Parts: sequence; structure tokens; C-alpha cells
Amino acid sequence: MALIVHKYGGTSVGTIDRIQNVAARIVRAREAGDDIVVVVSAMSGETNRLIDLAHGIDSRAAGRELDVLLSTGEQVTIALLAMALEKAGCPARSYTGAQVHILTDSAHNKARIRDIDDSRMRRDLDAGRVVVVAGFQGVDEHGSITTLGRGGSDTTAVALAAALKADECQIYTDVDGVYTTDPRVVSKARRLDRITFEEMLEMASLGSKVLQIRSVEFAGKYNVPLRVLSSFEESGPGTLITFEDETMEQALISGIAFNRDEAQLTVSGVPDQPGVAYKILSAVSDLNVEVDMIVQNVGADDMTDFTFTVHRNDYEKSLEALRAIAGEIGAREVSGDTRIVKVSLVGVGMRSHAGIASKMFEVLGKEGINIRMISTSEIKISVVIDEKYLELAVRALHDAFELEKEPAGKE
Ligand code: ADP
Ligand code: ASP
Ligand code: MG
Repeated sequence: MALIVHKYGGTSVGTIDRIQNVAARIVRAREAGDDIVVVVSAMSGETNRLIDLAHGIDSRAAGRELDVLLSTGEQVTIALLAMALEKAGCPARSYTGAQVHILTDSAHNKARIRDIDDSRMRRDLDAGRVVVVAGFQGVDEHGSITTLGRGGSDTTAVALAAALKADECQIYTDVDGVYTTDPRVVSKARRLDRITFEEMLEMASLGSKVLQIRSVEFAGKYNVPLRVLSSFEESGPGTLITFEDETMEQALISGIAFNRDEAQLTVSGVPDQPGVAYKILSAVSDLNVEVDMIVQNVGADDMTDFTFTVHRNDYEKSLEALRAIAGEIGAREVSGDTRIVKVSLVGVGMRSHAGIASKMFEVLGKEGINIRMISTSEIKISVVIDEKYLELAVRALHDAFELEKEPAGKE
């Protein structure tokens, strides 16, 4: 008998019919002999609706009370799923994050899980019940409700799987696995049978929202077998996230990720002196804003332009902070743009192959797409381009690197 953690995302529990389908799927898994712990998200659109309600009162609503509000979305779906299971003759109990002691730090809206007490879940499993747990939420040491950041139910599922030493963590969603790129943007995208933790981590952190970054980190750290599957299709192998081994596909590039959530800020005409970068970046990091890509150009006149990207939600306050220090650092202008997108090629195969970056730039050049910023690491190349070229760029790169084809060297 195996212990499997299932996780169903918002679309998969978006209506009563769908919740009943999820219940039927769990009943079948139990009949096949598995013990099941289920994690569910809020019904699709619900978390956004709750955020909009909060913004109706305060456009910068955040922190403790926002978490009290957002956690209600998942409380609805756990109850409905447990009812559907009971109705189908399958004993079940639902729990909020606090009730199963998902202890987190106190970083409201982006809390990290510290510890999980599995005793209550064990008792239910031993009594033959399905355990249904609210995703995305926990409780801190003061007893306050916390949430884990958007997409956080994935992380709840992996953390429970690690705590319970489950045989597999299965993430059921509205696509049947991890693809070479978002299949909603490129219809020719190909499902991957397997992808390494390292590549999945890179894809997730570069914008592929199919798995929350922290869930992949957690699974890699605690060695949790992690699989992405469709909640709508009857069966299929999905995609297994795994450690690299010699039987894996020998692809140069395994995928293309993109991120529409960033914005660009530029401080131009600053005297090129020691400490300038520090002054500019500390103005935004003092606001707890994370900076992503950074480019600095120095002109012949010893003046420098400093450009970087931040999350779009942090754009307005970052712009304000930079304008406030512009005089002090002698900057000519502070400007910004939210209509940008970051497109990234990811692949462990890049380590051993030169020329990927130049081919990427050639493809974009041929399409008339201007590159605003570039950053590279061992297994990825990212560029920032105008948002209007996103689909064109991703499709052209997918074609040029022939990602629709099975790579050679696969068993
Ligand atoms: P859930 O609500 O189940 O958590 P998400 O919307 O968070 O689902 O994640 C699934 C979505 O991720 C898909 O609908 C798809 O559009 C998107 N996605 C982005 N990149 C990829 C990729 N490389 N492979 C598969 N899906 C991707
Ligand atoms: N409901 C939360 C969100 O929409 C968490 C999740 O779905 O994973 O981000
Ligand atoms: Mg998700």
C-alpha cells in the first residue's frame, strides 16, 4: 500500500461538478489500494476576488489581515471536497493549515513552512479516512494565520509529502504535465516525460507557474518524488521531476520560460563614481523590493545609466523611491516601463555547448525584436523584450531550437 499526496489546483476544483470529479478520482485511487492525503487550492478566481475586496478598502492591503481573508478561499474547497467524498461513501476529514499544525515563520503573504506535525493526519489515515488539507496556508508561533505566496498550495502538498514520507506527491492541474513551454502560448509545445529538479527550479523561478518555486526547492531538498498530471484526463504518465541521470533526454534546451510580472526601471545620467550602484539599489531594497536583472552602461562622458527590473506590484513604489534620491545622486532622469517581458531559455545541456546565446539573439534579431537586457547563468539565458513581442519570440525560439522534436539520446 502506497501513501500518495494529491494536490488539485483552482481550475480542477472550480465548480461543484469538478469537485465531484476530484472525489471520484480519489475514490478510485483508494480502491486501487493507496492511502491518500489531498491538498486543494481555492476555486479558480477566488483568491483574486478576495484580493480585489481587500484592495477596495486599501490599495496596498497586505500583512496579517490579508492572510486571514485569503485563507478563507481554501477553507471552502476542503469542506466541499470532504462532503463530496463522504457522499461517495469514502470517509474523509478536512483540515485548515493551522489544524494540522503547518507551522510557518511570520512573514505574512509569503511565509515559509518550518515544521508540520503529522500525528493528526496519521490517526485519520490509520482509521481509513482520506485527509483533505487546505493548501497555501499555515499558522505562525503566535497563532496567526499565514499564507505562502501565490501558487503556494503546491508547496503545502510537497511539504506534507515530505513530513509524511509519502511515496509520491502528485500535482493535478489543467495541463497533463510540464511542457517545453506554456502550451497555451505555443500549441506545438511538447510534454516532457522527465525534467531535472535543477531545470524545473530554473523554469519556475523564470516564470513558468505550473509549479511554485518553493515546492520544487522543497521536493529537491527532501527527496520527494514529484509528478505533474492532468486532473481532467483519465490517465497518463505526466511529468516526473527527478535528479539528473544518464538515461535522461540529452536536450540542449529543455524549455522556454517567460515572465510577464516584471517592470523595468532606469536611472540615467548618473556620475560614474564608487557607491552609485549601492545608493540606487538600497533605495529599493529598503522597501523590501527584490531586484532581478541589472544592467549598467558607462558612456564616454563618465556618466552611467543603471537599469534593473522589479516585480510589477513593486513598480510604483520603487519609481517613487528612485525619484526621491535622483537629486542626491545627481541623476539626469528616472524612468520606467511596465510593458516588458522576460523570456528565458533553460537547459542543463547549455553547460557543455557554446553558441546558444548567439543563436538566441540571431533568432530574435531576424524577427525584428529588440533586446533590452540580457543575463546568463550556467543553465539559462534570459532577455528582456517589449511585451508585445512575447508570443512571437517564444514561438520563434521554440521553432529554431526544434523543441517540438524528441531529443536524440533518449532511451
Ligand atoms: P493550478 O491552478 O492547477 O495550480 P496553474 O495555473 O498554477 O494551475 O498552473 C498550470 C498552468 O501553468 C497551465 O495552465 C499553463 O498555462 C501554465 N504553464 C506555464 N508554463 C508551463 C509549462 N512549461 N508546462 C506546462 N504548463 C505551463
Ligand atoms: N489559491 C492560491 C492562489 O491562487 C494558492 C494556490 O492556488 O496554490 O495563489
Ligand atoms: Mg498553481
